[in-house]
Formats: sequence, structure tokens, C-alpha cells
Amino acid sequence: MTHRRLFTIFSICLVLHLAWPISVSAEPVMVNDVTHLNPIAVERVVTPKTIDEIRDLVRSHRGPISIGGGRFSMGGQIATDGSLFIDMRGMDRVVAFSPENRRITVEAGITWRKIQEAIDPHGLSVQIMQSYANFTVGGSLSVNAHGRYVGQGPLIGSVQSIKVILADGQLVEASPTQNPELFFGCVGGYGGLGIIVEATLALAENHQVAREVQKLDVTEYKNFFFTHIRNAPRAVFHNGDLYPPQYQTVMAITWSETDRPVTVPDRLMPLRNNTWADRLVLFGVSELPFGKELRADVLEPLRLRGNPVVWRNYEASYDVGQLEPASRARSTYVLQEYFIPVERFDEFVPQIARIFTRHRANILNVSIRHAKQDPGSLLAWAKAESFAFVVYYKQGVQAADREAVGVWTREVIDAALAVGGSYYLPYQIQATAEQFRRAYPRAEEFFALKRRVDPHYRFRNKLWDRYFPPAESGAGSLEHTDDLTERQVHLLKNYLRSEDQTYLTLPEWYIVYSADEYAAFLTDQRPSAFPFFHSIGQFWNLYRAVLGATWGAYPFNWGYNAMIGVIGISYSIEYALGGFYESSLGRLTEWIAQWNAGAPETEEDRFMRAVAREYAGFIHGTPWYEFPFAQKLGEFWAVQEAPGASAVRKWERRLSFTPAFAFKAAWGWLMKQATQATYDPEQFEIQAWTRELPGRPLRLHPRVRLLDPPDASSALLSLPRYEPFTATVTELARQGVQFVEIAGNRTIMITVIAPRDWKDARNRGRVIHEWEILTHPGQKRVALAVPVDRLHEVISSLEAEQVQIDHIYDY
Ligand SMILES: Cc1cc2nc3c(=O)[nH]c(=O)nc-3n(C[C@H](O)[C@H](O)[C@H](O)COP(=O)(O)OP(=O)(O)OC[C@H]3O[C@@H](n4cnc5c(N)ncnc54)[C@H](O)[C@@H]3O)c2cc1C
Repeated sequence: MTHRRLFTIFSICLVLHLAWPISVSAEPVMVNDVTHLNPIAVERVVTPKTIDEIRDLVRSHRGPISIGGGRFSMGGQIATDGSLFIDMRGMDRVVAFSPENRRITVEAGITWRKIQEAIDPHGLSVQIMQSYANFTVGGSLSVNAHGRYVGQGPLIGSVQSIKVILADGQLVEASPTQNPELFFGCVGGYGGLGIIVEATLALAENHQVAREVQKLDVTEYKNFFFTHIRNAPRAVFHNGDLYPPQYQTVMAITWSETDRPVTVPDRLMPLRNNTWADRLVLFGVSELPFGKELRADVLEPLRLRGNPVVWRNYEASYDVGQLEPASRARSTYVLQEYFIPVERFDEFVPQIARIFTRHRANILNVSIRHAKQDPGSLLAWAKAESFAFVVYYKQGVQAADREAVGVWTREVIDAALAVGGSYYLPYQIQATAEQFRRAYPRAEEFFALKRRVDPHYRFRNKLWDRYFPPAESGAGSLEHTDDLTERQVHLLKNYLRSEDQTYLTLPEWYIVYSADEYAAFLTDQRPSAFPFFHSIGQFWNLYRAVLGATWGAYPFNWGYNAMIGVIGISYSIEYALGGFYESSLGRLTEWIAQWNAGAPETEEDRFMRAVAREYAGFIHGTPWYEFPFAQKLGEFWAVQEAPGASAVRKWERRLSFTPAFAFKAAWGWLMKQATQATYDPEQFEIQAWTRELPGRPLRLHPRVRLLDPPDASSALLSLPRYEPFTATVTELARQGVQFVEIAGNRTIMITVIAPRDWKDARNRGRVIHEWEILTHPGQKRVALAVPVDRLHEVISSLEAEQVQIDHIYDY
């Protein structure tokens, strides 16, 4: 079943295929973050406007819930597959504001920018926030963000209280003194404990600030910071930019309160998108030889010349839009951050310089900041007074690019851990479970709290799926993650296959199903009654749904889509010709043949029925063009005449099917030659990383090879691809084997055959498409995208409901 090989011959048909109107259907609902690296298919997105609406949603929804703010985190922290996604941006009001007490209470979906607009006229400023103002308060609290403020630390230091909705729908207020465990768990808790709906924050005075810049050798920086900045009473913002590719020079930029009048009259930075000049600089720095040197030695000194005076709110209101590249389809810009105890600064710098250089990481900037120790949050990143290293870099979007980034990221994390530091969690989830545990030693306390306040594991996202995966009981444990296995699997040759293929194979399989239906139909019906045209319509509707599932979620797969276009057009032409012919001449000869009641069926009809059956079975496992059409044509002409059968029908069948079969024989031969000339041999095996459920030892299916001796809880398996994949995976799932990844992917598509009125699909996964089985009108096929780690649950629940698992689509 490898119709894809037709692509070589027919890519010209792509043009026709593109003419097909693409409309992305309402399903599926994909959410993604600013990097575009983490598409997640959620069940639905809701944008509540009130606390009561959120409480109702939490109480009434039965499955997982995830929470999104501005979606600037970069590793899937906002959602998990199949969850109810609560978009908090509808909750963006100021609830109470007391300028005299320098205090504001806001809904959690509000952005810093909107707060700035409200408080600026009162001469006030946000006390602690990030460098950019697009983030929501809820998203910032949940990562416990920090900025460039001198003498401050994590955001938690400016939070007076929060209101949180817990998994049972209860609204709870928490502060350092009231429900302190919840307060210190929710701030920095990545939405794992509940939904923060309101926060009361302390404010600061909005003063004029003047900039000063010093160029230093990196070895002088720590001393400079401690002598001149750390205790400077008027210093407000400070950062040191460490320039690649040498990592030797730091540009120390300090903004201090001044009484001089502002040189920039705007009170807030104007909102603006990236200009062509910004993009040119970005491109030059990231891609051109000596681009980084040019930036360090020419562009930056130019940018930082003079001593401007601006309002504090102005300097705190940068717009992320300024950073947005023209496209993120092939490469994307990403952040990482490491926190190092101040006294270990000089040890860490040469380490990261070495790692970045060795791996040729495309680093654009490293911004050094300072943070005071965290006052007690459970997932504190500043376990001691720290320097933060904010790394801004560019990477490709393919699986191999991500893996390459993962390798150097884990090395940098090791370097940070070695000096008693940690790394930041809102970015790509690359750290092993062991690294996570070391960086966040109080994680077990956090998980214990989660077990208590969210016993059924309602609040989920990819971060917690990774480090606290839900166990069968509904609560998880760190023991379930296995770093060793993750490293092993990603080293396997041919392990990674791209996830979009699980969807893209569906149209090919539709053609196989259609051949099955045709063969089954002929057992008791006449060919002229077959719904040829309806099948064509179903094919293209299905393809539209597949486009909807992959469009924007993955880089567009031109080759595969062109191939689907080609096979779709060939299929449509074949069925259209068949439909026209059978419903005219074919129907006439059927009618003539039945005229003489009691006359037997022609041997030709019987033969064609048998061939249709044989062909349908054949293409389940073998490319269609391998079918022996020429041989069948020979056999066809050798069939004996049935005494008494209609001669008109007999000759009509012979004369119509002979050219059809001759054409297919020639066509198939051509395809075979083209395929052999063009493609590498197919891989017939696919690799999967599995985990046994506790207390159930793994029994290997005969078609499964164990690639590595299993350790306590996981195993790497090699499974057959294509047709046998379904039976093999189903069998393993019945044994209770939990898949962690298949070919590096965490979502997989399955089709099930269910009664037409079956409505329970949504509880099993995201419905991609459903369509009637034309020859069994009471039944339908439903295509579902299922998280790989839930396959075992989904399969067993479907089987319990007697819904037939039709096919599982490998990649
Ligand atoms: C260009 C850029 C610059 C950045 N600079 C900084 C910086 O200077 N300092 C810094 O610390 N970080 C920085 N970050 C990281 C940023 O602070 C985080 O990604 C932050 O989470 C973004 O807020 P958000 O509203 O986009 O949250 P989202 O990304 O939408 O959500 C982040 C997490 O919070 C959870 N969450 C969101 N809202 C709620 C809620 N109401 N209740 C419970 N959980 C919730 C989400 O589930 C998710 O786990 C930067 C990121 C970018 C892209």
C-alpha cells in the first residue's frame, strides 16, 4: 500500500490538486506557542469572561484541563492533547486599584501592557515584570517571571495575594500568610494546581531613568556588578549583554533614576511590529559570516550611543512584535535561561561558551541579569541569589534540529547544575527527569500538593506530562520517567519519523477501504448500484480534514500532499469513468441479462467479483501496481461460458474490462519501474518506546523485536509498519503496555468503525473526521488523533464498548 510512489510521475498534477479549495474545518482545534514548535490538538478552546464561568467549566468538564495566557512559553506548557483549553485572555479587567496604597487587583488574563496603560496616568509602574509587556499576569505568575530590576528577584516578591480555582471548582484566596502552601505552589506552578483568576500586586513609582553603558571584559563583570550596581540606590534596570561568538565582552547597561527631563516624550513604548530593517539585522546576525561580530562591534555600539532619559514605564513596555520574524516555517527564534549562584559566575561562563561553540549553536545573544533569592516558592528557580543567563538563539524546526538543540541544552543544564544552579521551565522541554529533579529539589513537595488538590489530575500540560505523567490511578510519580531510555531512543538510527504522516496516510488508506467496500458490495449487488461518485466526494472531504489537521501544525509536506493529489485525481478519474459507464451501458446489459428470468449470471461477472475481492485483499499489504493485472486478463479470457447466460452481458463485460485491465497492467508496470528507480527501499519496521504498567510484565508479540533489554519499567521495541502495525499495537496495548513515543511522536491517528449514532468519540481523542461506510449505511468510520501515551487506555475502552479498531496509522 504505497501509492505515494506515484509522486515521481505525477507531481505535475499538484497544480490541479492545489486548485481544490482549502477550507480548514472547525476541527481540530490546534493551539501553539510563539515558536510554532509545539502544536497541540485540544478538544476545544473556551474564553471565559468571569470567575463563575471558569468554575462552571471546571465543575462540568470531565477530562483534562489546560490553561493558556499569552502563549509565549515555548515547550507546550500551555496545553496537552485532548484537553479543554481555557484561554484566559478574556479575563483582562482591572478589579481594584488603589494609587495611594500603590496596589492593584487584576484578572489574570490581563497583560502588563494593559496594566501600564491603567496606572501610568497615576505616576505608577509595575514593580516586577519581564522585559516585554505582552505577557499575561497569570502566565507570568505561573512561571514566576523576573525582569531586569536591580534589587528584586522573582515576580512572587511583588505579589500580595492571588485567587485560584481548584480542581473541584472551589475558589480559594492565597497569600504568603493565607493558604501559604497554595500560594508558594501556584506561583511558579505552571498551572498544575489550579487556575489563577485574580492577583493583587504591589506597584512602584514611575520615575525618569537615564541609561549608562560600560563595555567590559567578561572576567571583570561580576566585580563591576557587585561594586557599582548591586547596592546602587537609584539603579532600576540592569543587564549585561554577553556577545557571541567569543563570549568575552559584556555590554553592561544600567538605567538609574534621574531628575533630568526625559529625552523621549512617549510614556509607553509605541506598539510596533518588526520592520524590514529589524529583520535584516536578525538575518545578518544569525546567518551571515561575521554577522555576530558586526553586531557586537558596530551595531550595538551604535544602538547604545548617547545617554537617553525615558520613563520607567517606557523602558518596561517593549513589544514582542518587534522580535517576530517574517516566517517561522523553517527556522524559529527561541529562548533558554539558566540561573547561577552569583559566586559561581566565572566558572559557568567559559563552560557555556565551550558548549555553544562545540555544537555550533546559533546563539544571537546572552543577556545577564541578577535576581535575589526566591522567598519560598516550591518550584523556585532562584534557590540562592543568582545571575540569570537569558540565551536567545535560532534553530530549525525539524525533529533532527530539535534533537540537536536538546543535546547541547542538556549539556548546558549539566553545567548549570554542576555549579549549584538551575534552568528555567517555560522553554523547550529538553531536560531529563533527573536534571529536572536536581534543578527543582522541592518538586516532590509540589507533586504531593498536586496529588492533594488535584487528585484526578485535571490540570495538565506537556510540562507536567513530562515530569509528572498521569498514572492509572489519576496521579503520577517521577519514577515513571526514564532519562536513560529517552537518550537511548533518540540515538537509534531511523527512530524519528515526522508526525504529520500519521494523518497524511489516511487518504491512501481511504482508497484501500474503498476497494474493500467495492468487493464486499459486489457479493450481493450489481456494479451499477455502487456509489462511485459518493466515494469520490468522501475522498476529497477526508483529504480536506487531513489538511485541517496538518495545516499550520506542521511544516507543509509538499511531497506527500502532491502525492495525495495525484492518487486522488487518478482515483477520481477511475471512479468517475466507472460510475458513468456502469450506470449507462453497464446498467443496460444488467437489465438485458435479467430480462430472461432464471438465466444464470455470466462467468465474467463472477470472475470480476472474485478479482475485486482478491485485489482488495492484495493492496492492504502490497503496492497496487504489483497486482498481476496482465495475468488476470489472460485468465479472464479463458473463463468458460455459463450455459444459458446472457451473451450480450458477457460480451459487454469482456469489451469493457479488457481495456481497463490492459491499461492498469501497463500503468502498473510503469509505476513499478519509476518507483524502483527513484526511491530508497522502504523501511518495514518502526521503533517505539514503551512503558509497562506496574505489575504487568511485558509479553512480546511474535512480530515485535526487543531492541534493548528492558530496564525496570521501559523497553524499546521494533514493530512492523503498515497493515500489521495495527494488530501489533492493539495486542501490546491489551497487555497494558503504555507507549511513550512511537518514532519520536506523541500523537497518533486511529480509525474505528462504529454505529452511525455513536457519539463517544470525543472522550477518546480529537475527532479528525467521520464518514459513513457507503455500503453499510448504519456504520461509520471515525478518525481520531490520540495521545500516544493514552493509546492503551483508549484501545481498551473502545474494545469494552465493542467499537472496532479499524486501523492505527504509523508515520
Ligand atoms: C520574547 C520573550 C521574552 C521573555 N522575557 C522574559 C523575561 O524577561 N523574564 C522572564 O521571566 N521570562 C521571560 N519570558 C518567558 C515568559 O515570561 C513566560 O513564557 C511567560 O509564561 C509568558 O506568559 P504568558 O502569558 O505568555 O503565559 P503562557 O505561555 O500562556 O503560560 C505559561 C504557563 O502558565 C500557565 N498559566 C497561564 N495562565 C494561567 C493562569 N491564569 N492560571 C494558572 N496557570 C496559568 C500555563 O498553563 C503555562 O503553564 C520571555 C518570553 C518571550 C517569548
